[in-house]
Amino acid sequence: MEQAAGSPPQGEARRPGPGQRPRSYKTEAVVLRAFPVLEADRLVTVLTPSLGKLKVTVRGARRITSRLGGHLDVLNRVSLTLALGHRFDVVTGAESAESFASLKGDLDRLASALYLSELVDGLLPEAAPHPAVYDLLLAALRALDGAGAPEAARLETVLRYVELRLLDDAGYMPELQRCLVCGTEIEEGHHRYAPALGGTVDERCVVTAGRVLPLSVDALKVLRHFARTGFAEATRLRLGEALDAEIEGVLGFSLQHVLEREMGTAGFIEHLRTLRRGSR
Ligand SMILES: [Zn+2]
Repeated sequence: MEQAAGSPPQGEARRPGPGQRPRSYKTEAVVLRAFPVLEADRLVTVLTPSLGKLKVTVRGARRITSRLGGHLDVLNRVSLTLALGHRFDVVTGAESAESFASLKGDLDRLASALYLSELVDGLLPEAAPHPAVYDLLLAALRALDGAGAPEAARLETVLRYVELRLLDDAGYMPELQRCLVCGTEIEEGHHRYAPALGGTVDERCVVTAGRVLPLSVDALKVLRHFARTGFAEATRLRLGEALDAEIEGVLGFSLQHVLEREMGTAGFIEHLRTLRRGSR
């Protein structure tokens, strides 16, 4: 990876190249997933702001005496010190900065957060920076962690908004203005949604690829609103059960299409679907 000369900007992590000294680096990260490996080690997938998604090893993490293991719980935001490793870099220091205890104490919110972390893991390639996704995931975790009824009420909005933004980041932002077959502007009420084409089509045009879903004018308006607003504003919206279910269906088919196309992993999609059901 080519890096410009000089020190990196504040907060931007940099992984040393082969042969460079020192052989270690620091970064903050959110823990996406953790797998047990070997005797007591753990392989942890983390998302970092400037290095993207990384798989790192924590030696002895599953021993009771491990100083590192507890800091590296799934969904924690952590400060990491990593030593360059042969296959995976090795965690030599870890300190939890945010552990989202309120979120983890509530089954619905925990299921939602785990679904989002696995979705991020599934959509992002390794070692490619996706700073917008890092910010998005952190904003979602903080929103889900917020205690109190108003926060809980818009849990679904957080999920739907993050799904749309992840599609955007993966290069599959749904078209919401024009017909994807003929290119003319959509006339509200005379439109449908074709996930395999990537968005709206008008009712006159014939779609030959994949299914075609109805999309209410309200759902179209919510998606357009999401497309042009930031996290804080967008997630203030209350969708209501019917509208949420409709948007969930539409974005679900879009995500499925992208995951199949990019990864070809039907098993993973089934796994996500289970998590998604659990988050309701
Ligand atoms: Zn058309």
